[in-house]
Amino acid sequence: MSDPIKVRFWGTRGSIPAPGPKTQGFGGNTPCVEISMGGQLLICDAGTGIRELGTHLAKQASGRPVQGEIFITHTHWDHIQGFPFFMPAYMPGNKFRIHSAHGVARSFEKIFRGLMDPAYFPVALGDMASKLDFVEITGPLAYGDVKVQTTFSNHPGVNLAYRFDYDHRSVVYLTDHETYQTMHQPTDFAVKQDRLIMEFCKDADVLICDAQYTDEDYRIKKGWGHSRYRDTVALGMTAGVKRLVLFHHDPWHEDALLEKIEAESRDLIKQAGGKMECLAAREGQILEI
Ligand SMILES: [Zn+2]
Ligand SMILES: [Zn+2]
Repeated sequence: MSDPIKVRFWGTRGSIPAPGPKTQGFGGNTPCVEISMGGQLLICDAGTGIRELGTHLAKQASGRPVQGEIFITHTHWDHIQGFPFFMPAYMPGNKFRIHSAHGVARSFEKIFRGLMDPAYFPVALGDMASKLDFVEITGPLAYGDVKVQTTFSNHPGVNLAYRFDYDHRSVVYLTDHETYQTMHQPTDFAVKQDRLIMEFCKDADVLICDAQYTDEDYRIKKGWGHSRYRDTVALGMTAGVKRLVLFHHDPWHEDALLEKIEAESRDLIKQAGGKMECLAAREGQILEI
């Protein structure tokens, strides 16, 4: 048996933190997913969930240096706002590479550093004592035996989706994405773009995917860059994904509604004769592959 890949959810909520008794089942922290794969520590997004991940990593390391690869989908607040509270970044000896795409008019590094501009935060990023390197992704990467590929998703601004492959297993992290055909009707362009996204997700063992909206939400929020869960289920099935994780939960969706969305997604799969596993991401949950 090859070494297991572990996926742990530290933040599952989209747009803004939504703490409180009505959301504690699925969690209120914004996106942060830890993937342990092939001896590498991979961190997807630095939403508020990264604070607890930091505490966990520091405890686990008990004084030994921590090294990790952080992959930011895009610099909307909910995906970066936890970074100033990521304690391992303050500790000398630790090393993190922070990846994303070049921004619309500025470099990724410049935008990311702006998060800790004195107008917004008392400590500058340059005062964090760990070694922080910025990587603007321009093509496939490899860390150890882990292959990293990216593609652009359909979201206002620039947003990357990530695919991690290791030892014939794969995890895809595709959040903040609106299916093209739902947004544009089935034009040639939309069909082609959806096909490219489907190929990117092809046969993934785990697809963690934006499923923020119900049909009712979507009527008002079309074009905002998020998918209806029914479209996410269809994408997972077409791509032959083994396990689909509904992600980036709407801040207004309380636990009862998310349970309903999870059950309805499973019904959709069953009705279509599919075998794909499907679950809505819960903060604290660990998946093994
Ligand atoms: Zn988001
Ligand atoms: Zn966004």
